[in-house]
Amino acid sequence: KARNANEPEFLQAVQEVAETVLDYIAEQDIYNGKNILLRMAEPERVISFRVSWVDDQGEIQVNRGYRIQMNSAIGPYKGGLRFHPTVNQSILKFLAFEQVFKNSLTTLPMGGGKGGSDFDPKGKSDAEIMRFCHNFMAELSRHIGPFTDIPAGDIGVGAREIGFLFGMYKKIRNEFTGVLTGKGLSWGGSLIRPEATGYGTVYFAESMLKTKGEKMKGKKVVISGSGNVAQYAAEKVLQLGGKVLTLSDSSGYIFDEEGVDAEKLAFVMDLKNNRRGRISEYAAKYPNAKFFEGETPWKVACDIALPCATQNELSGYDADVLLENGCICVAEGANMPSMPEAVQKFHDKKILFAPGKASNAGGVATSGLEMSQNSLRISWTREEVDGRLKEIMENIHNSCLEYGKEEDGFINYVKGANIAGFVKVADAMLAQGVV
Ligand code: NDP
Repeated sequence: KARNANEPEFLQAVQEVAETVLDYIAEQDIYNGKNILLRMAEPERVISFRVSWVDDQGEIQVNRGYRIQMNSAIGPYKGGLRFHPTVNQSILKFLAFEQVFKNSLTTLPMGGGKGGSDFDPKGKSDAEIMRFCHNFMAELSRHIGPFTDIPAGDIGVGAREIGFLFGMYKKIRNEFTGVLTGKGLSWGGSLIRPEATGYGTVYFAESMLKTKGEKMKGKKVVISGSGNVAQYAAEKVLQLGGKVLTLSDSSGYIFDEEGVDAEKLAFVMDLKNNRRGRISEYAAKYPNAKFFEGETPWKVACDIALPCATQNELSGYDADVLLENGCICVAEGANMPSMPEAVQKFHDKKILFAPGKASNAGGVATSGLEMSQNSLRISWTREEVDGRLKEIMENIHNSCLEYGKEEDGFINYVKGANIAGFVKVADAMLAQGVV
């Protein structure tokens, strides 16, 4: 703790894992006394670098870039890049730490990493985004490679940014390899990758509901965020017959009592992906919807909540309100959106709660499938990738049951995901010795 005292998000993530895994370690002779968790909590490598670039006014701007190479015991480092003004070492270390467990859960051979910059893409022109991405990659390219570290997108890094980053990597290395995932379809991308995190979260929620004899059909669903994960979570909820009541962004949320249908969702996708507008424009376009400035959507009564925006966006108070309103299932699409007090409340009331490292693992799993297709130099069909994604989410759910089912039948998905993720990485670290 002392070593990371100024990194609250990182400590929060490690603490949560420690609380569920340490008892298990103590019971297992092979893990006990080997300081495995201590070793996992120290990144193998932290890279921090200057990114200077020229804005449209000709001014020189300076940002800080990072790559956290957390753990490579079961495969090359793999994890997204985040461009957001709140990015700092603590946030990226928490994300990289979570990524290690998540990637392990997918059963694919991927270690864990994360990176990004405090660069704010909002309000920047395409040319500025391109110059920033190119300068960011000019340094990052020394530290990554298809057998070393394969970054992907995250908040603020979508198809456009991956394109600019890939272009510079290819120029510097003079090789066309699968060094990034989330690529465009005509240059090595995989079908279903854009949809995968949102779809996977909803597949996982459906598996959770099944344990209670319930299903998505007919359920009222509250979603936060309106970016990549939120958009495709909403799409899958609609396909499975659920009703999406809310979406949000950092300026507030919209509540649509009639539900966000496929046509309205298409409007949101165009608004966010092409026009880069604010979610308040939804209420201007559809007058039956209301926009609540500066607020989060958790007070809207629902059966299912899918937090898909960012970390620590759902407080203990929000959890109380959700529970009072009869919410039966929370599946995290974002990483660590629920604060520890909120998770405790969900557990106390024994509702279905899935941590992001289990429920949002479909994104990185499909990135893993993109890597496989790149290595084989083939492209699988939409049905094939979607089928594999479903199967992987089902397997992650089964792993959570294996390690998280308690005597009274309650499924502690946090414990299940942490222990299942831990075991595979720990076994590999033990086999490879103290390196
Ligand atoms: P996007 O950038 O596409 O969208 C992020 C959404 O969250 C936007 O609506 C954004 O609003 C909102 N948001 C971001 N920061 C804040 C904040 N501080 N307060 C309130 N709202 C905020 O990112 P993604 O959809 O890709 O990522 C969302 C979450 O899912 C993140 O936690 C990410 O780590 C996680 N995740 C993503 C994966 C992926 O494949 N993309 C895989 C696994 C996890 P605004 O536009 O106003 O900033």
